[in-house]
Amino acid sequence: MANKHIIVVGGGVMGACVTYYLSLHNNIRVTVIEKTCIACNSSGKAGGFLAYNWSDDTPLGDLSRKSFKLHEELATELDGENKYGYRKVNTYSILYQKESSLRKESNNKKQEKDILTPWIDTSGIRHMEQLGNTSDTAQVHPRLFTETLFETAKQKDNVTLQIGFGVSHVIIDDNEQLKGVELNNGEIIQGDAVVICMGPWSGQLPILKVPIDGQRAHSIVFKPKTSIPPQMLFTTILDGTQTHHPEDGTIYMCGATDNSKLPSSADQIQVESKAIEVLERLRDTLAPELYDNKNEELIAKQACYLPISEDGTAFVGIYPKYNKQVLLAAGHSCWGILQAPATGLMITELLVNGKISCVDKDAVEALDPTDRCC
Ligand SMILES: Cc1cc2nc3c(=O)[nH]c(=O)nc-3n(C[C@H](O)[C@H](O)[C@H](O)COP(=O)(O)OP(=O)(O)OC[C@H]3O[C@@H](n4cnc5c(N)ncnc54)[C@H](O)[C@@H]3O)c2cc1C
Repeated sequence: MANKHIIVVGGGVMGACVTYYLSLHNNIRVTVIEKTCIACNSSGKAGGFLAYNWSDDTPLGDLSRKSFKLHEELATELDGENKYGYRKVNTYSILYQKESSLRKESNNKKQEKDILTPWIDTSGIRHMEQLGNTSDTAQVHPRLFTETLFETAKQKDNVTLQIGFGVSHVIIDDNEQLKGVELNNGEIIQGDAVVICMGPWSGQLPILKVPIDGQRAHSIVFKPKTSIPPQMLFTTILDGTQTHHPEDGTIYMCGATDNSKLPSSADQIQVESKAIEVLERLRDTLAPELYDNKNEELIAKQACYLPISEDGTAFVGIYPKYNKQVLLAAGHSCWGILQAPATGLMITELLVNGKISCVDKDAVEALDPTDRCC
């Protein structure tokens, strides 16, 4: 269809990647509606970790592999290294317990120290394993990545961003045809198709039944005293009776999710000081030399909501009603930054060609909203 008008709802990483790939088609016009601001939820507060083959034992193996490669391509095209910190990383898992009675020197200790010094207190490492290297794990700064994609798309004449009012309704006529969307301020925007990229809020529009909710996670970002190598740690820290699983980038550390209810919008998200204190304590245990309280180097204490679907798999494809004019790109849980480029390409292929060819059949079927909504 010539000059199709697509409405993309949500200014997170999914909205950014859908918009970016759609913007490459001159016969498509895109309007992005973001309620709060670009990357205001998890797309601005994630770790930005990318892994090539970590979904291989699931139907989404091809989606992750394809998306990892698209990230590489995008970084080359968009100068990702400078614009959004794209870099290859070494990735480790460690089991950590700082308890001298259990301390056991091993022959590997020196090697561990060589790898992790100067930023980790290696005396508490009980087990360590390399999970990935610079050929199959990487990282982006998620907010800068999301902003760069929107900025690049916006330079095209066919893309408009509208920020400040959210979509309150998808408008469907008596013949089950999409007319457009209505915003919180009453404005109506007409369109030929709408793509729902509302993250954890994707299930909250009247008439659409999308079983997605949110789970809150806290994180801190701090500036290290010394420069440290490009490394990602998945840690299990045995701390008294509790086990914590922070995920630690060079200056980013996040904790486990909690059950706090999803607020009405991203600007209502509450940060719990106790959750931040836990992360700060774990940081001081794991990397006591890394942070100097006197220098006020804590950059962010933050929380955001992961988009979680009821069956644990994201929705990418056509909503099973309304003449194939409503599409979903939501619910990617803890892999949304990795999987966003392939998701954006899948949605674009559907809207442009009517079918998906960029990922294999297993991924298409697993992500298909048919039979999983309503
Ligand atoms: C702590 C943490 C660490 C993570 N680390 C990683 C990682 O290392 N690697 C990885 O691949 N993934 C990671 N993730 C997962 C990733 O962040 C998410 O899967 C991804 O950001 C989801 O993006 P999204 O665009 O679907 O949703 P969001 O980022 O939530 O964006 C949705 C947008 O929709 C807007 N919106 C909501 N309602 C409306 C409305 N009615 N109208 C208009 N706009 C609306 C919101 O304001 C928001 O901006 C992490 C997540 C968390 C929480």
